[in-house]
Amino acid sequence: MSSSPLDVCAFLERAADALDLNVDVREVLRHPTRSVAASINVRMGDGSLRTFPAWRTVYSNALGPAKGGIRFHPSVDAEEVKTLSFLMTFKTALAELPFGGGKGGVAVDPGELSRHELERVARGYVRALRQDLGVGRDVPAPDVNTNGTVLAWMADELAALEGTAQTASITGKPIVLGGIEGRTEATGRGAAKVVMALKEHLELSDDASFAIQGFGNAGAQFANDMHDAGFRIVAISDSSGAVYSANGLDPKKAESYKSENGGIKGFADAVADNDLRKVEADVLVPAALGGWIDETNADDVAGGVVVEVSNQACTVEGADRLTERGVHVVPDILANAGGVSVSYLEWVQNRTGEQMGRDEVFADLDARMERMAKAVASRAEDDDTDLRSAAYRIAVSRIAEAIESMGTRRLFNE
Ligand code: NAD
Repeated sequence: MSSSPLDVCAFLERAADALDLNVDVREVLRHPTRSVAASINVRMGDGSLRTFPAWRTVYSNALGPAKGGIRFHPSVDAEEVKTLSFLMTFKTALAELPFGGGKGGVAVDPGELSRHELERVARGYVRALRQDLGVGRDVPAPDVNTNGTVLAWMADELAALEGTAQTASITGKPIVLGGIEGRTEATGRGAAKVVMALKEHLELSDDASFAIQGFGNAGAQFANDMHDAGFRIVAISDSSGAVYSANGLDPKKAESYKSENGGIKGFADAVADNDLRKVEADVLVPAALGGWIDETNADDVAGGVVVEVSNQACTVEGADRLTERGVHVVPDILANAGGVSVSYLEWVQNRTGEQMGRDEVFADLDARMERMAKAVASRAEDDDTDLRSAAYRIAVSRIAEAIESMGTRRLFNE
């Protein structure tokens, strides 16, 4: 395991400097608590054996059991899993959830596998990492290319190995197996609530325009909610292409078009160079994969606001360049915290045995997102800093309080 700090640790170091953080806490938070690599051996449909590399990282469990998704993607690696687990750590802290941060991944292209092969990978993941998972230890969820079915196989495998039901050990399950209403909408809806709560801070007009990269689960829900609130969605993209209309696009019609045609391409005029960053829109919303805005293209961003629905949408250098240019960036650990906030409700529901209704879930989600957004904006204004720095200062302080209360060098010197 590499012991060198991750790129994203720059966000931690800056918060630590601003807070004059206890040296022990800073040292603890520079490194993941535990990182495990495994190999999943899978008997394929044609009788051959294939091995898929897999990882799970608990970055921190200072505030509670680790929480974070499992990603199935051919390019996932140990470093990416650690980076995503770092982000989960500060996201759960900012959202005031009783969780630490974790993440998992398998280097696999699910599109190349049959359903049975995919099931063997999912069950193999749990067998390989069984000792690390569990309700009070580390609670996985879906991420890119994993869904309710994959998580149901995982919960079932864990239950078979442990000999007891493992409903609260894994979230994102189908509703009939203990999943929660509203989880699908949670990330996009939560991001929309954050933007609405920050409207004044971000200096957005009532009909501000939005360009959304990645019209998938989170991006489409976000587009629908902003459209319903009266904002204009002028551009959207998915892996098929990018489309634009200055008068605004109807996200519901775009969704129907996408499901009939397999992609958004052709729904409206194509965007020049297929590059949404350059589109004239007040707000740019990355909602596909990370690293889309970096130091080579941050100057192309036309609008004054970026909302990071995807994790690490901006590299550290890209984010710094945007901030230098005066572009407001709503950081991922705030913008996309709706997903884990509803996963938390699923975990609570599974532990108490009570079933929550959709209205109750959305009321809790909306209130939490608004509370977080207002706290971050107010900290940014008080400290005269940007939203990401403010969000990290709040999150780091909370984790520091937990670590310090367990005893740091200051206690030993007394
Ligand atoms: P998804 O797979 O449903 O949607 C992703 C969309 O991005 C798809 O429409 C795909 O076509 C599009 N896309 C892929 N490459 C693209 C490209 N180069 N240009 C434009 N579009 C492209 O995924 P999702 O669940 O909506 O997640 C999106 C992002 O949000 C991910 O980074 C994920 O980690 C993050 N996120 C999601 C959740 C959640 O609950 N869904 C929670 C937190 C963070």
